[in-house]
Amino acid sequence: MEKALLADHKIIEDSAREFARTHILPHVMEWDESQHFPMDLMHQLGHQGFLGVLVPEEYGGAGLGYQEYITIITEISKVCGSIGLSLAAHNSLCTNHIYTFGNEEQRRKWLPKLASGEWIGAWGLTEPNTGSDAMRMKCVAVKDGDDYVLNGTKCWITHGKSGHVAVVIARTGELLDSHGMTAFVIERGTPGLKAGKKENKLGMRASETAEMIFEDCRVPAANVLGEVGDGFIQSMKILDGGRISIGALGLGIAKGAFEASIQYSKERQQFGQPIANFQAISFKLADMATKIEASELLLREAADLKNAGKNCTKVSAMAKYYASEVSVQVSTDAVQIFGGYGYTKDFPVEKFYRDSKLCTIGEGTSEVQKMVIAREIVKEM
Ligand SMILES: Cc1cc2nc3c(=O)[nH]c(=O)nc-3n(C[C@H](O)[C@H](O)[C@H](O)COP(=O)(O)OP(=O)(O)OC[C@H]3O[C@@H](n4cnc5c(N)ncnc54)[C@H](O)[C@@H]3O)c2cc1C
Repeated sequence: MEKALLADHKIIEDSAREFARTHILPHVMEWDESQHFPMDLMHQLGHQGFLGVLVPEEYGGAGLGYQEYITIITEISKVCGSIGLSLAAHNSLCTNHIYTFGNEEQRRKWLPKLASGEWIGAWGLTEPNTGSDAMRMKCVAVKDGDDYVLNGTKCWITHGKSGHVAVVIARTGELLDSHGMTAFVIERGTPGLKAGKKENKLGMRASETAEMIFEDCRVPAANVLGEVGDGFIQSMKILDGGRISIGALGLGIAKGAFEASIQYSKERQQFGQPIANFQAISFKLADMATKIEASELLLREAADLKNAGKNCTKVSAMAKYYASEVSVQVSTDAVQIFGGYGYTKDFPVEKFYRDSKLCTIGEGTSEVQKMVIAREIVKEM
């Protein structure tokens, strides 16, 4: 990278780190315990430019690329994975779907509100019976005059209750037809849309996850993104970028757990010396550091491909798969390094441990990433 670019990148990193330290760190456990989704903080993130990271300046965004995006998500997730997850869903799923596939009118209508943080975005693909197997979705959209009428349920939707606008993929054609689904932009308050159950989760508790229920929900045909029938294909493209953000989320959690472990292992004395002196502990630290470095290199490679507009399906799946698994391994080791104290809520590592697991599930499980990687490798041969 050029020097000036590196300097800008450093400013962005410092500003995300400072934001997390000042506005998130003091509240992390309170929000986690009460499952409070901090909407005020989301608006502040918008003022900071972190909710329109990938959106060009002409639509009110920061106009940055995936390298800066990784840095922002990582710095925030080092302090709180929940907020990192909410940033990821808002930026690279909802907002980026509208930016990538919306027409000029749609971009001008929704992007400035999303990029400024006035509105918070959601993205609905998953349904109760179709997670990994999204092609079998049952939520239907039927054309009626100038509208589509939606019926069905989306579940596990980040900001499914409080989000002001959502991109929702619904069936407009035959089951199992990859061209049988369409993406719609649906605003909160649209008659026939209501929020369902809010999930009570193991981790990522300050990030709201809820059902969206559609009962004869009438959406103007003008809210269709791109072509009718392209919703599934669009979603797969959006997930290529989304996976980079979940990898960055995992990287941030791993870095947070690692930094806490280094500090603790230098301070904690057993057998008359810091536990960092024991080979069993120092080898754990060495493994953690190596895996974190490798995760970041993969993520940076995926970001370069994405920025260059090249196919990044394989590398972003690799980065997501690897960084997510590393996140779980590193935060598990961190709890071990903290011993009994790691098992309490007085130290940060138990939360990293709980939050990390989502990274191996959301936006495609580790098993699904392996399927994607294998498919791409075979295609290349
Ligand atoms: C906190 C949270 C936030 C989320 N946010 C969103 C969101 O904003 N929008 C959205 O649309 N979705 C969201 N999701 C949903 C998420 O993407 C799905 O949970 C995920 O894709 C897995 O789907 P599933 O839970 O139905 O698991 P399933 O698909 O039922 O999988 C269960 C298990 O079977 C395995 N499996 C499935 N198929 C295969 C196969 N062919 N081969 C091998 N193994 C297989 C899986 O890997 C997994 O281990 C969120 C989920 C969570 C937990």
